[in-house]
Amino acid sequence: MPGVRPVHEGLFTPEHLIGGRCDACRRHHFPAATTCPYCGSTAVTEVALSDTGTLWAWTAVTAPPPGYRGEVPFGFGVVELPEGLRVITRLGESDLSRLSFGQAMKLDIAPLHEEDDGTAVVTYSFVPSECA
Ligand SMILES: [Zn+2]
Repeated sequence: MPGVRPVHEGLFTPEHLIGGRCDACRRHHFPAATTCPYCGSTAVTEVALSDTGTLWAWTAVTAPPPGYRGEVPFGFGVVELPEGLRVITRLGESDLSRLSFGQAMKLDIAPLHEEDDGTAVVTYSFVPSECA
């Protein structure tokens, strides 16, 4: 039976993104790293990040990047989470007229493409909250 697999291990669960919180400077980052990207401390704890945020920047990708097997166009942008970090992410909305600065967004684990054996490859994305 075909299954489901994440596009990359360690980035997210079905409920949230997996980030890192630095025990020295207290800042969050994504993806989780063993060394804090801000202060260099190795006292980093893996944490569940908020599944909501606000839209900070966005665009629509109309030409498939090399190796990309999903559909175009797709939205792509930056969502700011309550923890104070900005996450570069796929967006579930590619109609730019429906996106605006500061818009409430919600995490959505979405299908990216299907492999030859039928396995669904999923990735993280954010969609406008009213659509989630
Ligand atoms: Zn730090």
